[in-house]
Amino acid sequence: MGGLAAALAFAKKGFKEIHVYENAPALGFVGAGIQIAPNLIRVMDKLGIWAGSAIQNEATCVDAAVVLDGPTNREMAHVAMTNIQNSYGYAHHAGHRASLAGGIFSAAEAERAVHFHFGETLESISSFEPGRVTFAVRNEAGKSRVVTTGILVGADGIKSTVRESLLQGLGFTAEAEETGTSAYRILIDREQMKSDPELLKLIDSNTVRRWIGANRHIIAYPIHNHTIYNIATAQPDVNFAGPANSSWSTKGEKKAMKAVFADFCPTVQKLLDLAPEGDVVEWRLRSHKPLGTWTRGGVALIGDACHPTLPHLSQGAAMAIEDAACIAEALSLIPSGQVGAENIAKALQVYERLRKPRTTTLVSLAAESARALHLKDGKAKEERDRQFAAAKAKGSSVPIPDKWASPEVQQMVYGYDCIEDTRERFSGLFRDHVSRL
Ligand SMILES: Cc1cc2nc3c(=O)[nH]c(=O)nc-3n(C[C@H](O)[C@H](O)[C@H](O)COP(=O)(O)OP(=O)(O)OC[C@H]3O[C@@H](n4cnc5c(N)ncnc54)[C@H](O)[C@@H]3O)c2cc1C
Repeated sequence: MGGLAAALAFAKKGFKEIHVYENAPALGFVGAGIQIAPNLIRVMDKLGIWAGSAIQNEATCVDAAVVLDGPTNREMAHVAMTNIQNSYGYAHHAGHRASLAGGIFSAAEAERAVHFHFGETLESISSFEPGRVTFAVRNEAGKSRVVTTGILVGADGIKSTVRESLLQGLGFTAEAEETGTSAYRILIDREQMKSDPELLKLIDSNTVRRWIGANRHIIAYPIHNHTIYNIATAQPDVNFAGPANSSWSTKGEKKAMKAVFADFCPTVQKLLDLAPEGDVVEWRLRSHKPLGTWTRGGVALIGDACHPTLPHLSQGAAMAIEDAACIAEALSLIPSGQVGAENIAKALQVYERLRKPRTTTLVSLAAESARALHLKDGKAKEERDRQFAAAKAKGSSVPIPDKWASPEVQQMVYGYDCIEDTRERFSGLFRDHVSRL
């Protein structure tokens, strides 16, 4: 997501030679839902890929977030989201990943400056010198070649090779933050739900539902013009726990998935029963402590490569795409006639300064949400449930322990305009910043 958006954002800023290296032989989009928050839509709109797009046309315009007790189906919180459009300029949406990524890809591909190299894997970086960054890529036939470029943006996800190369020798490490969590992702067709009035109501609604229980939860919402019901879970990671297991997603077993949620209510059981046999994918969820640096010379990281997050705030892709817009904006703001090695490095460091505080906050809010949502019986859970109940009694606009649906967090997350922020603050930060080159 971040790499595609960066290619497009650089092209829109007038950069003339943009090459995207992707180790997959083609763009194979993971078929699953994704929440598209107003702060992400704002960036997409500015990049010209929202209004009238396939993703806008198929996405669900979310009108409420509902938190339910998993075992009993009792409603614990109901946050109306019909005001989001008025408050932040865009409604909150939920769509299909393939439409989102496909839309960014088509727009990037249409730019003359952008060149895609599929089946090419970045192996290592031999020079970080701004203006002369040098790295090796290997093609599918196993042949390597060396590429030299002005700037390298590492948008290579949580297992980033660029990050590894960049940190090596700088005295920093990417310390994994143990989440102990994995996720199942399931898509159910409308056809499978339509004969059951209760399930039909779910897929016809515009509501995001979260069923919570000890150590686990399920989030679900309709996508693709209400033709698909998207379900994602979070539960203790047992299948990936083995130390030698380097895989990050695997075909999960429906039986094992059902066992994890065996004590959840009949509605959840009916949904899980519809999961296609043999098509239950389990993902390992990982995050990192904040990195010591995101940049080195002419190389910078964006997205999951520098701030992987738990998905519970629905901001992972949003942050990656915001990073992309911000880094392109920052580099385009280097005063004309001053684009030398030192200033490229400095502009990348300013990008990091603009993005790090916010992404660190959002990553920790997602982790905080997980702790609150997954509480077991005890005093802390009693207090959490008291807060849910108090908020419910007061109405929609008071904080709740589910940070994703909490109005004050929504205000901070959805109200943000990363491009405007970069424009406002870049010059001051750039002027005062001493380059680490
Ligand atoms: C269960 C779940 C639900 C989620 N829900 C949401 C949501 O609702 N909203 C949201 O905003 N986010 C969500 N996210 C998070 C979001 O998917 C990620 O944060 C986002 O995809 C990160 O984008 P990225 O570009 O940084 O990395 P990725 O999307 O991981 O892309 C990295 C790319 O780099 C390529 N690559 C890797 N190594 C190399 C190499 N050496 N050379 C060349 N290419 C390479 C990979 O093939 C891949 O295409 C969710 C995540 C999970 C697991």
